[in-house]
Amino acid sequence: MQTVWFRGNSQVELKEIARPAPKTGEVLLQIGASAICGSEMRDYRRSDSIPVITDWIGRECYNPGHELTGVVVENPDGRGPRIGERVAINIITGCGHCTTCRRGDRRFCRQQGYVKGAHTEFIVVPAYTCMPLPEDIPFDLGVLLGGDTLGVAYHAFSKVHLAPRDKVVVIGAGPVGLGFLALLTYLGLETILVEPSAYRRNLALDYGIPHVIDPSATPVQEHIRDLTEGIGADVVIDASGKDEGVNLGLNATRPEGTFIFAGAGREAKINPWSHFLEKEITAYGVWYFVDADYYGILDAYRKGLNVEKMLTHRFGLGAVAEAYQLMAQANTGKAVFIHHI
Ligand SMILES: [Zn+2]
Ligand SMILES: [Zn+2]
Repeated sequence: MQTVWFRGNSQVELKEIARPAPKTGEVLLQIGASAICGSEMRDYRRSDSIPVITDWIGRECYNPGHELTGVVVENPDGRGPRIGERVAINIITGCGHCTTCRRGDRRFCRQQGYVKGAHTEFIVVPAYTCMPLPEDIPFDLGVLLGGDTLGVAYHAFSKVHLAPRDKVVVIGAGPVGLGFLALLTYLGLETILVEPSAYRRNLALDYGIPHVIDPSATPVQEHIRDLTEGIGADVVIDASGKDEGVNLGLNATRPEGTFIFAGAGREAKINPWSHFLEKEITAYGVWYFVDADYYGILDAYRKGLNVEKMLTHRFGLGAVAEAYQLMAQANTGKAVFIHHI
């Protein structure tokens, strides 16, 4: 079978590997769709060495793809999902018996790992990571409903108290930011987006986001103050994962407002005095999502959450180089690899 192979230095190619065989507790999936996540760009751009990418038990898996849907084709134990069942995956793995795993939340298991290597034809996953995908939802939309794009946004809003007239700022409309924009549109909240990419600003306008700011064209803080009666936004989400984004966001949050760290980044230098002490901001971190969030997202989809607009590019695995180039240039919304199964 063919699999996407990350070579570092913005090089990706296809590699022929053997189809994996599931062991006890695992199932083999034939992949219907896998989506490119913004977090993959770190390994894509890596220039110091060829990345060695491994899954939850240290097997080399060649690419960091981790948003996928598919069909169960082998299940050695017969427990969990049945053969032929369509599934989405919650990629976080755990020991299965610690307190957090028993609560059904593997995110904080001390033996936590991740399903990776999803940009391929067949993949082995732990049976417990499978979440049923309803028959009428195509694989390419299902991968957005069951992946971290909407998962992170939905999980964030399960923790943060939103009020009907809240003004919300989203910083960055990459895949995670786009998930927030989709949910905020669905909720009908007045949203302000700050995004340097013209492509992504247009995508947000197309979504109906009323205020879309190009940070290179306007003083962003002043613009946000003008839109928020001079006090700042009620809720600010950093989906950029960058130092400038985090600082811009904390500055744009009103006194006693809420700030959400949603972008996976490395480091940011923040000022606890001016941001937290003087303004009494409450900050939340969001780390992925839990299975229950997926059912909430499915419910929202049934009630009109528009995920089709997020999905701007569909590729076959053969177009892998083009797909990552477009993603690296920020010229995509969500891009997925689809297989005709
Ligand atoms: Zn991701
Ligand atoms: Zn555990």
